[in-house]
Amino acid sequence: MKIAFIAHDRKKDEMVNFVTAYENVFEGHELYSTGTTGKRIMENTSLKIHRFMSGPLGGDQQIGALVAQNEMDLIIFLRDPLMAQPHEPDINALLRLCDVQGIPLGTNIATAEILVKALDRGDFAWRELVHKYKPGVEE
Ligand code: PGA
Repeated sequence: MKIAFIAHDRKKDEMVNFVTAYENVFEGHELYSTGTTGKRIMENTSLKIHRFMSGPLGGDQQIGALVAQNEMDLIIFLRDPLMAQPHEPDINALLRLCDVQGIPLGTNIATAEILVKALDRGDFAWRELVHKYKPGVEE
């Protein structure tokens, strides 16, 4: 599965703790992140993560490009609901595209916990069918 991690600054410690706790579940998946989030996770785990640009510099949009193609299988996006972000339009675009494609998205730690347990159980197997039968790009 292709899994992406994004955490706003005041949520990065929470993300590192979360990914560390479930490192064994995330191992073996294709992992992606925005720049600093991925750096922090890799400093604290032995996971290999493909890092895109930092969120404010376009990282959300880069992940969004994969979402638009229905390539991403799961997104854990720990947002900071109490602080305005300079790249709010990019964030909203990413969330919207997840809804367009029906891609599982957790924006707080409680949902992230449920999603990682579902991942561990194999509940995301339906995504393999999405990849198998994905139509080509429409004209
Ligand atoms: P970052 O980007 O991981 O590079 O900090 C996430 C964000 O703050 O949007």
